[in-house]
Amino acid sequence: MKPVEYNTGKIPNWCPGCGNFAIWNSIKKALANLDIEPHKLALVSGIGCSGKMVNYVRSYALQTLHGRTMPIATGIKLANPDMTVLVNGGDGDGYGMGVGHLIHAIRRNINVTYIVHHNKVYGLTTGQAAPTSPEGTITKSTPFGVVDATINPLILAMATGATFVARGYTGESEHLTDLIMQGINHKGFALIDVFQPCVTFGGQYKYEYYDERVVKMDKMPSHDEAVKLAADQEKLSIGVYSQYERAPYEARHPEISRTVEMKDVSKLIEAFI
Ligand code: SF4
Repeated sequence: MKPVEYNTGKIPNWCPGCGNFAIWNSIKKALANLDIEPHKLALVSGIGCSGKMVNYVRSYALQTLHGRTMPIATGIKLANPDMTVLVNGGDGDGYGMGVGHLIHAIRRNINVTYIVHHNKVYGLTTGQAAPTSPEGTITKSTPFGVVDATINPLILAMATGATFVARGYTGESEHLTDLIMQGINHKGFALIDVFQPCVTFGGQYKYEYYDERVVKMDKMPSHDEAVKLAADQEKLSIGVYSQYERAPYEARHPEISRTVEMKDVSKLIEAFI
């Protein structure tokens, strides 16, 4: 497969310069490098600018309700254990409305890869505060500054026991491609939080802000070091923060593999009639 073979023919209508273009390209490159054919890929997205991704990557695709990507992705993976399931959503979608689902997907270690477009605002609705907006940030919905504490997704995921936690940046697209490949290859739930500047409504959090602060990690840090790096708001480290082995959800449920083996479900249907 070549990246261009994942194009659907639809032209993305993101704002010129939006970080979503880099995520789009990195996804296609990662899929091509891994030779994942479109009929073996399910793309799930939430609501928001990131949610449009399902229109632009050739695959089975479903745009879900706001914050509800994880239950849908979980169902798809359980019914189709051999399918690659890739989820795209925004930081408002995943860490606001969907944070409960996120935590339970991590606990289950369902084998899906979740790419979160982290731009610190609700971009599609023209720039309201998100759970990732730092305290004091002035937005349309917080004219006197954000008063709530900020969610740190990496620390949240590590504290909940996520088996793969990484951070990328759309200004480092080759690095991001590699992270997406690692996330897909990981056997279990993979969270990839991606700094994705919203160039239209993102306030100060544009490319200049990240270019000054983003640094690549040369190796995976120890747990304690990972927490410190994730908390650092000035030096923004990208790379894999945490990875370990734990059987994914579908492997811990033998009834799922029995269902897949059965194929002919007539006996199952008979049991209900
Ligand atoms: Fe990208 Fe922001 Fe435009 Fe949405 S509003 S397409 S996130 S730049």
